[in-house]
Amino acid sequence: MKKIQQNLLNWFHKNARDLPWRKTYSPYHVWISEIMLQQTQMDRVVDYFIKWIKRLPDIENITRANEEEVLKLWEGLGYYTRAGNIIRTANSLTEQHNGELPSDYKLLLKLPGIGKYTAGAIMSIAFNKEYAIIDANIERVFARLFNLAKPVKDKKTHAFIWEKTKKMIPHGRAREFNQALMELGALVCIPRNPRCKVCPVRDFCRSLMEDVADKRPVIAKPSQTVFIEMVTGILTYKGKILIQKRKTKGVWANLWEFPGGRLEPGETPEMALVREYAEETELQIGKVKRITTVQHSYTIYRVTLHCYFCSLMDGRFEPVLHAAQEYRLVNPEELCNYAFPAGHRKLIDHLKNSGLLFL
Ligand code: SF4
Repeated sequence: MKKIQQNLLNWFHKNARDLPWRKTYSPYHVWISEIMLQQTQMDRVVDYFIKWIKRLPDIENITRANEEEVLKLWEGLGYYTRAGNIIRTANSLTEQHNGELPSDYKLLLKLPGIGKYTAGAIMSIAFNKEYAIIDANIERVFARLFNLAKPVKDKKTHAFIWEKTKKMIPHGRAREFNQALMELGALVCIPRNPRCKVCPVRDFCRSLMEDVADKRPVIAKPSQTVFIEMVTGILTYKGKILIQKRKTKGVWANLWEFPGGRLEPGETPEMALVREYAEETELQIGKVKRITTVQHSYTIYRVTLHCYFCSLMDGRFEPVLHAAQEYRLVNPEELCNYAFPAGHRKLIDHLKNSGLLFL
């Protein structure tokens, strides 16, 4: 065990990537980076993190910022509830903990959006306390190192990994060790074709000894992909575009969008658009003109979004909102000031690139 720890720490000191949240290990930086890294690739997070810290350098700045601006900083990272949780956590820290992240695992777990993994990451990486963390990289490293014959999410296998990770943290070096494990999974013990020849723990790796490294971790049955067809329509009124702000709950809470929704069985996209406008805004739309079709994915969903221009049937613009908290009529060039879900942002980019709207 000691040799594994030592080899890994030595390797980390020579190979750790120069990441912006590794400059000071301030609890605030660690917290924001860990929330951004949930379900998001490291490469994508770096730019978002730099931009975020520049605009919101501390917790106090988050509490003073307008929610629209926070969502805009997050736009494109997906899983928008994370941004809402950051705002709620910042407010709660200001009210209860003098605007600081507590160095207490149980208190961290009470904060919105902070689960076992993030609390462990803050405790170990920011405060250098001996708390284990498990992410996909660490799961893969352990599945190979100990040649685990069941999927890593299997209850007993998962418990085994937690136990091993906890026991392996060298006294006083949790910060480096946890990061070293994750870094090994990201750079060497990679999902396909692990780079065993340069691995610092190769002499202890049971799956390498058994020649099954490429068969670990054992893959669990994949979750089923769900295909969804949706429609949205850009309504212009007196030269301005209608956008509405989604309600405060749900996957895209508080983001802006063009009205629309899912196709029902037997409906064409045009029929669905007319129905959705009536249901969501009580506006009667008439002429519709196809713009494009956008594909995007989130979690297990693969969305086909049919996009249209549309106009009012009777010229009466008196929206009554049923699926949103407010609406605005904005100039086309103002669309870039609002945070939209990925599909609608792709539509806006399409309009911009094809010159269909002056943005
Ligand atoms: S020897 Fe290979 S399989 Fe084993 S931990 Fe290292 S990179 Fe992963």
